[in-house]
Amino acid sequence: MKYVSGEILTVDGLTRGYLSFNDREIVEFGKGCCPKKPVSKGLIVPSFVNAHTHIGDSFIRKKEIDLPRDVEALVAPPVGLKHKLLKKATENELIEGMEESINVMIKSGTKIFSDFREDGIIGVCLLKTALAHWKISSIILSRPDNMIYHKNEIDILLNLSDGIGLSSISDWNINELKKIVHHTKQKKKIFSIHASESIREDIDKILDLKPDFLIHMIKASKSDLIRVKENDIPIVICPRSNAFYGLKPNYKLLKKIGNKILIGTDNGMLNPPNLLDEINYTISCFKGFSKIDLLNMITYDARKVLNQECDILGSNSKAEFVVLNKQTLKPLYISV
Ligand SMILES: [Zn+2]
Repeated sequence: MKYVSGEILTVDGLTRGYLSFNDREIVEFGKGCCPKKPVSKGLIVPSFVNAHTHIGDSFIRKKEIDLPRDVEALVAPPVGLKHKLLKKATENELIEGMEESINVMIKSGTKIFSDFREDGIIGVCLLKTALAHWKISSIILSRPDNMIYHKNEIDILLNLSDGIGLSSISDWNINELKKIVHHTKQKKKIFSIHASESIREDIDKILDLKPDFLIHMIKASKSDLIRVKENDIPIVICPRSNAFYGLKPNYKLLKKIGNKILIGTDNGMLNPPNLLDEINYTISCFKGFSKIDLLNMITYDARKVLNQECDILGSNSKAEFVVLNKQTLKPLYISV
């Protein structure tokens, strides 16, 4: 049996104590002094949840292409450069890129990630192939291959995945979009969509779709963010991806309004999906969130929104935790 000790981040805040654990589970959560020499001392937090990735485009990172710093030109379907590269890539290339990103996530303490997977049914199957040999949980949000609603395709996608994750209302014919949403809700699966990333989009149309959570909301106005809060819809921010396009979340306003915030690393082609890098970058942009606020966003808050186990550091729960240096947030120990 091994021990880690220090400050433990629980749902109710920080507590001083220790965890004893074996390879599979936590045996004891103890308060006070650690009975044996711990393998690591520091800030003990649950393993992370990356609330928004597109690991399918990770292979592009290696190509060292000078990517356009424009959302429309790079990622908007169907003609954004990323989609052209996805169509041209071999299956091996795609899977290798995804596995590289999965490895980055595991090595930096992430145990669950929520991925927007492109390329319809084949796209989901490729992601599942990439996941086969790794110890990580995924929430796969798929999308139709073309931007139209086909009942059979959506049936298959919803059987294979956890729900649907789409580009944005500006890319879609709203009637097709509504059919997809209706079908997704009928099957009680997740629906999510990028919103107001580089231009402000109509908040009524967005809310009409009853998304489980929204991605970005950079260009949303104060009243838009208030409406989102009133509707209890979380927002996933991806600060490093936004910075690539010269964009920045309105942290101050998000904090003032009290929107529920989760954090994602967005496209694998832009940055390796390391949430600690994302948090450190966020701290460098905005001092208004404490480290603990941000750690809560990538642990308990994300688990709650994504319906994952929240009773995570107690006895008999899976040994899924990370020990961090409290000052630098450098990982000192990551459970396997
Ligand atoms: Zn995205």
